[in-house]
Amino acid sequence: MRAAEPTVESAPWAEFVPSVLSDHGTECCAMARAWYTAMDRSMWRGEGGPAWISRKFPWGPSKWPLFWCEAMEAEELDCGAHQALSMEAFRARGIRVVPVQLVQRQEVHHLPHWHGRWGDASASPAWAREGVAYHEACATLQEGRAEVWDPTVGAWLSPRHLEGVRSIAAVRIGGATASDEFVDWRGVRLRMGVWASLEAGGG
Ligand SMILES: [Zn+2]
Repeated sequence: MRAAEPTVESAPWAEFVPSVLSDHGTECCAMARAWYTAMDRSMWRGEGGPAWISRKFPWGPSKWPLFWCEAMEAEELDCGAHQALSMEAFRARGIRVVPVQLVQRQEVHHLPHWHGRWGDASASPAWAREGVAYHEACATLQEGRAEVWDPTVGAWLSPRHLEGVRSIAAVRIGGATASDEFVDWRGVRLRMGVWASLEAGGG
C-alpha cells in the first residue's frame, strides 16, 4: 500500500539541510542549554543512545527556526529537533557525530493526518509526501565506521531495512556539503555529504 518508489532528486527534501537549533545568545537559551545538559547527564549514562529525548519530547510538529529556550519548553518536537538534541548528547561525551538525512517509506494513509497535525500547528508539512517521508537522525563515527541513531524511535538503524514502513529509500550522512570522506555503515560504503539510494544487496 505505497506510492511509486520515491526518488531523491525529484523530492523537495533534496535541498533540505539538517536542522540546527538557534540560540538567542541571551539568558533564556543559556539556561535552556544548561538544563538540557544536566538532564542528559542524569538520564543517559552513555549506553546505547539518548533514548530519553523522544520520551520527554514526543514526536510532533515544531516551528522553525526553533530556539533552545522554545525547544526545552515544547511538549513535542519533530525529528529535526530530536536530531539536534541527540547530536549534542553524543558530542558531550566526546563522540564524533554528524547529522543524517533519510527518505523513508511510509503508509499512504498517514499523510492526511500528518498534514492536518502540522497544519494545525502552523508548521511546515513539506517533509511528508504520499508513501514517503523525510526524516532526520544522526551518526556516530569511529575509525571510518558509522552507526546511525534514530532519535525519534530511540534505536539504531540498519541499512538492510529496505522494505515496509520506515524502511530506508535514501540516506545522506554528514550534511549537505559533499566530502571526500567515505564511511562504512554496516557494510554499506557511503560518501559523506552525498545522497545515496539504498537497494537490496547493499551498496
Ligand atoms: Zn532563547
